[in-house]
This record gives sequence, C-alpha cells and structure tokens, in this order.
Amino acid sequence: MYKLKGGFIIHNNKLIKKDIYIKDNLIVDHLEEAQEIDCTNLLIMPGICDLHVHLREPGQTAKETILTGTKAAAKGGVTTIFAMPNLIPYPDSLAGLKVEEDIIAKDAFVNVYPYACITKSEKGQELSDITALAKKVLAFSDDGVGINDYNLLKKAQQLVKQEKRIICSHAEDYHYIPTDNRSEYMAVKKELEVVKETKVRYHFCHLSTKESFIYVKEAQKLGLDVSCEVTPHHLFLNENMINDNPNFKMNPPLRSIDDQQATIKALLDGIASVIATDHAPHTKEDKNKPYAKALNGIIGLETLVPLVYTNLIKTGLAGYDMLIDWLVNNPRKIMGLDKVSLDSGNIADIACFDIFNSRIYKEEEIVSKGKNSPFIGQELYGFCKYTFVNGKLVYGGE
Ligand SMILES: [Zn+2]
Repeated sequence: MYKLKGGFIIHNNKLIKKDIYIKDNLIVDHLEEAQEIDCTNLLIMPGICDLHVHLREPGQTAKETILTGTKAAAKGGVTTIFAMPNLIPYPDSLAGLKVEEDIIAKDAFVNVYPYACITKSEKGQELSDITALAKKVLAFSDDGVGINDYNLLKKAQQLVKQEKRIICSHAEDYHYIPTDNRSEYMAVKKELEVVKETKVRYHFCHLSTKESFIYVKEAQKLGLDVSCEVTPHHLFLNENMINDNPNFKMNPPLRSIDDQQATIKALLDGIASVIATDHAPHTKEDKNKPYAKALNGIIGLETLVPLVYTNLIKTGLAGYDMLIDWLVNNPRKIMGLDKVSLDSGNIADIACFDIFNSRIYKEEEIVSKGKNSPFIGQELYGFCKYTFVNGKLVYGGE
C-alpha cells in the first residue's frame, strides 16, 4: 500500500496537486496507513503506452531481452508496450507466439502485448495463421519490412477485418531507396487504396514525410479508420544532424527540416495521434561501424517522455492534455484497450516524472542493452522517478 504524496496530476489541461493512494493493484480514494512515496513536484500520470517496441527476444538476446527491454520501459515510465514480431521464432503461428508469451509471463516488468506477423517470417509471400492468432493478439504487423504484394495485403486486411483486429503497417515501397521520400509515401498511398476497399482498421508506424500525412489526412476525411504514429526522432531530429554518426541511422531515416516540421504539424493537427518510440536496440558491434554499414535503429524507451515534455509541452507548443492523449489515451484507444485514469478503481499503472528539473542524459544510466541513442548528452526535463505496474513499484525508490 502506497501514498504518492505531494505530486501534481493533469486535470482539464492544468496541473493540480493531488495525493494518489494505491491498495494492492488498484488506485483508491484514501488509506489511513500506507508507505509514503515522496512525489513533491512530480507529475503523476497513468502509465505510458508505447505501440512500437523491438524487444528482440526470442532470437536476438545479445541486443535486448524481454527482461532488459521491459526494465528500460519501467525506467521510462512506460507501463504498456506492444512488442514487434521480427523475432526468432516469428510469432506467425500459435506455436511461435507461445515461445514469446512464455518469456513475457516469466520476465516482463511491464505489460507486454505481442504483435503477430502478417506474413510468414515477415517474408511478404504467404499469410500467417491470422485467424488463429487473432484470438491471442490485438494487432498484426510485419514491421521492418513493407508488403509490396497488394493482392496479398488485401487478403490480410480482409482476414484482420473479419477478426476485428488492426494492422500496423511499416509502409515501404522497394522501388525506391529509403532516403527517397517516395519509398514511404508511395507505399502509404497504395496501401490506403486497399484499405478503401476492405475498410479494415489501419495504423501506420513511424510516418516521416510531408506527403504521407497528406494521404493519411485524405483517408481520415473519407471516414476510414486510419491512424498513424510519429517517433521522437522524426519530431526532434533531421538529416542535417546525421554527420555519419550511426546513432542517427534508422528506417525510415531522418529527413529534411521540411519533413520534420510537417511531422510536428501532423501531430499538432491531430493527423498523427500517437508518439511511439520504435525502440530498436543493437549491440555495439552492430552499430559501431562506418555509417553505411551500421544497422538501422535507435533505442527510445528511456527518453520518450523527457523528449516530448521538453520539446513540445514545456515550450508551450502543446498543452498537458496532449501529453496524456499522445502517450496514453490515443495508443490505448487504437488498440482497443480500456481508457485509464488516476481515479479510484483504476489499475495502478502509474508513472511519476520530474518535470521541473532538467539533467543531462548519459550513456552510463541506460538500462536497455542497446546504448544506441542519438540523444545522449542532451539536457532534458521530465525524467521518470517512479513507475508502478499493477500496484507494484517496478522502478525508482532505490
Ligand atoms: Zn518499421
């Protein structure tokens, strides 16, 4: 039993003082006796939900494990993550998925929802067992690769629609190289043509070009159930910052300042409704290579809230309510999870952030096995101090 004392919560877009009480796994109105947690001047929020995380296990445990990845999530105040299916074995059948589910049950510090693959081994040739997998997962993705066979994609969309699930698409058209904006937006355009026919619920991962947002906006105007996410790196970095540093290499790549500004605008205008990390840890061996040979991907769980808070909320570009919408309400809604709040009766998935103090983000503090962050050395506000999952303190208070 805990009393989170002296903190602020967000109410009607303002900060108000409120103590929060936790009994067992629930938030309650009041407790006579409880262990006090000093939350003086911390922002207390429902736990963050990240739709885009690569946990690497099973398969590539030198890069990350479910244990270390979810520990990194806990350190970032992220209490619910959706784990991408580029794993070995791939969760493209119930047997493959079971391997991942068993490790989650044993090792995870936070809530983990696995994605299942759309196609077998994400090869884009043959569909996964979508109907059977839909009983176990909320969403399907072949993240990391784009599906360019639109007949196959149509079949996938029809099956996913039938099962009332959602597709989260890594849109990439292989007629173009990744640094060509068309590699993204031509895929978005073509995929949306199929969505118009099937009416499936469709979510685009990590959109990064000006044109992509125009197509998504058109689809939304037509009344299609289409959403998209943007990442902190596409919001806060651009191609001019790369300087051959492999920690600035990812797919989709960093783009022009024009695209960066379009990404921010798409978020502020509500075309993109979610910020997700695309947390993609790598070993030093895979990353510390000449830029051209280094693998794609950067970590993000531990800096998600500090980056968004420092760059968008503290600057006044957006209000406190948007912090909750982008990071909690909208991702949960897209996946069909319950709406959560800090009111009594809710599950105690809670994170407390130090929004009034800044500090430098350092490599030594990184909990993820991957140290590949372009944000090392940045001074940021809003680092997490305490995280609770299901009423248990999973980060802080050491
Ligand atoms: Zn992707």
